[in-house]
Amino acid sequence: MHNREKIRNIAIIAHVDHGKTTLVDRLLQQSGQFRDNEAIQERAMDSNDLERERGITILAKNTAISYKDHLINIVDTPGHADFGGEVERIMKMVDGVLLVVDAFEGCMPQTKFVLRKALEQKLTPIVVVNKIDRPNARPEEVIDEVLELFIELEANDDQLEFPVVYASGLQGISGLSPSELQSTMEPLFDKIVEHIPAPTENPEEPLQFQVTLLDYNEYLGRIAIGRVNRGTVRQGQSVAVMNRDGQTKQARVEKLFGFQGLKRVEMEEAGAGDIIAIAGIKEINIGETIADPQHPEALEVLKIDEPTMQMT
Ligand code: GDP
Repeated sequence: MHNREKIRNIAIIAHVDHGKTTLVDRLLQQSGQFRDNEAIQERAMDSNDLERERGITILAKNTAISYKDHLINIVDTPGHADFGGEVERIMKMVDGVLLVVDAFEGCMPQTKFVLRKALEQKLTPIVVVNKIDRPNARPEEVIDEVLELFIELEANDDQLEFPVVYASGLQGISGLSPSELQSTMEPLFDKIVEHIPAPTENPEEPLQFQVTLLDYNEYLGRIAIGRVNRGTVRQGQSVAVMNRDGQTKQARVEKLFGFQGLKRVEMEEAGAGDIIAIAGIKEINIGETIADPQHPEALEVLKIDEPTMQMT
């Protein structure tokens, strides 16, 4: 099992087109450069070429990036209106967020919507002033706008002290000031490792896992993605599943996956703080809980506010 202290779980939030996909592509591409052994370079772009041609970009829901000896799980959030409270659920499964803001456009309606959700969950954001290469970039003004938005959304004192990283995902440059940019994403990676807390839950406690996202695969059927809130889960383990009406049933974890780059990789076991995918539980749904049948007290329904579509 991965050392808990080396895990960082973050969500990436932004107004559409402010450069999330390009930025994550670049982080993935550069992550290989910091490894000692063979560098596996995987790029989101390869699988997205088709979408790009059509002018629509997509980002994998979960991307795991290794940086030095850390594992950084990046969860994407919807760029458009949030049907069904997905942003809120994602905010409950991460320990911090990257708020990406275009260095020219500044704060936009979706910036405010997603930031509000992050602040409500007491997450500490790192602000990425992105597209710093744009000739009309106005980073100082954009930071003022961001600060105003934090104040308007009643950020707490910790949140108000957000670190800022200036970056261009397109050019692969980043730095702590717009005039001192390095030709690497290392300053951003370092800020993530330094500023976002590691998971603190205990892998020794009774298992609790909550389904945040669903995926589907022809061979595996429904795949439940979420964070292990407590305890440890193993491949083949019998579990109790509780639906949102409080009804419980028995099931088995047929397969367990972690994430590596854009891929899912099979795991034998996963512990508290890990973001994983579980296959083999038929009709599993968002908001349901999986627990150790010996410890049904770990069953708990994820509280989600009513779906919201408002953007401001
Ligand atoms: P997303 O919707 O937030 O995922 O944004 P994308 O990564 O798809 O980028 C949206 C558009 O902005 C694309 O045309 C990108 O080529 C462009 N873009 C992304 N990052 C940068 C950047 O750092 N600098 C500049 N100048 N353009 C960028």
